[in-house]
Amino acid sequence: MAEANEILLQAKGLTKVFSTGRKGQVVHAVSQVDLTIYRGETLALVGESGCGKSTLGRTLIRMLPATAGQVLFCGQDITAMNDKQFRPLRRRLQMVFQDPYASLDPRMKVRDIIAEPLDTYRVCPSRDETTRRVLELMQAVGIPAEFLNRYPHQFSGGQRQRIGIARAIALQPDLIVCDEPVSALDVSVQSQVLNLLKDLQQQFGLTYLFIGHDLSVINFIADRVCVMFLGTVCEISPKEELYARPLHPYTSFLLDAIPKADPHQRDRHRQVLAGEVPSPLDLPSGCCFRTRCPYATDRCAAERPALRPVGDRLVACHRAEELQLGG
Ligand code: SF4
Repeated sequence: MAEANEILLQAKGLTKVFSTGRKGQVVHAVSQVDLTIYRGETLALVGESGCGKSTLGRTLIRMLPATAGQVLFCGQDITAMNDKQFRPLRRRLQMVFQDPYASLDPRMKVRDIIAEPLDTYRVCPSRDETTRRVLELMQAVGIPAEFLNRYPHQFSGGQRQRIGIARAIALQPDLIVCDEPVSALDVSVQSQVLNLLKDLQQQFGLTYLFIGHDLSVINFIADRVCVMFLGTVCEISPKEELYARPLHPYTSFLLDAIPKADPHQRDRHRQVLAGEVPSPLDLPSGCCFRTRCPYATDRCAAERPALRPVGDRLVACHRAEELQLGG
């Protein structure tokens, strides 16, 4: 982390539900999430597909309106602001998307794609000045200046993601939500883009919320990790501690699912989760992981576990202290 524990963004009881269109039926995408992001860190949000991590990322930066709860950005409640009040803060919260091709307008040249946020906020006094700034940003992300007038389809996937990153950093944001930014890229290109994100973080003092499902990628990029299951936070821990000793049974399962170099080792220790993932239309009572958890007790069905401190970590499990879970 670049700075010592300066809180940049905080979610309190953040909840997001979507209506299905049927009377009274809603999808519980994000449920009562408490989360703190410190300036200069990379907090990774990890969980299986459909666990609500992308919805949470978007709700945190107000790309989606919250259903309930608060998001405090630099101490200001952005969920309570109207659009006009939020507009000056909008530029400080940016996003890098999973699919770099879908997120770039195919009819626009790279110059105009990167210039768009600069134009929207009238950052530069002239068109020439804007182009000069675009060239600086292209250099920062490793796109050659002679590609200024090319279109997205003339770039590789990795280059397109670099353009998306240039656009995201154009307004010098405080926080960038990176939503699976390397998942659509070849493995050989993934590490280049991850290294670029790390370099830019150092250079510009960026803070990342990095959404992903690949724990090897998370291990490379994250300072702390927040594990989600079915729209709730299971555990938030410094990366090294989480990988060495998970506190939540679901974290333990995710770590166990990482492919091992030695297949015999995998066969000996691999856990298999019982049961189906509960429906977000009808959440279980108590702990939402209880229908799959091998350690569930009656208390788990009766009482939702609060996210609570255990040492310098946070965990939502009634039995976190007594379970000795392996990495
Ligand atoms: Fe398992 Fe109970 Fe802990 Fe939930 S609270 S993870 S069901 S032991």
